[in-house]
Amino acid sequence: MSQDTIFSKIINREIPADIIYEDEQALAFKDINPQAPFHVLIIPKQPIATINDITPQDAPLIGHLYVVAATLAKQQGFSEKGYRVVMNCNEDGGQTVYHIHLHMLAGKQMGWPPY
Ligand code: C5P
Repeated sequence: MSQDTIFSKIINREIPADIIYEDEQALAFKDINPQAPFHVLIIPKQPIATINDITPQDAPLIGHLYVVAATLAKQQGFSEKGYRVVMNCNEDGGQTVYHIHLHMLAGKQMGWPPY
């Protein structure tokens, strides 16, 4: 199922996206509907539908997504001021694309709780 998401098409360059980072395991691109001055999605190239589908074998890959977030924060100058990284899961979590992705938001004061 997750093979068919729009994010696989972005990975395969079948549809355009503003890609700001890529390595062998991951891709980061600007969200088309940004909720902060800086809003990117960090995704694994390997399609995993939801957090529920993450296995112990995926742990290094999931950790890598956070390493990418920290790298981007440093590159973009958000490390000290701060930022938010969040992954939504299924309907109540607000997930709409079933290929896991970290939202990285920065450039404004975030609110809490997030509703
Ligand atoms: O967490 P959720 O699944 O709702 O997040 C999906 C995100 O993917 C949305 O923020 C949406 O704006 C973004 N998106 C995108 N480019 C697309 C399709 C969706 O940035 N082509």
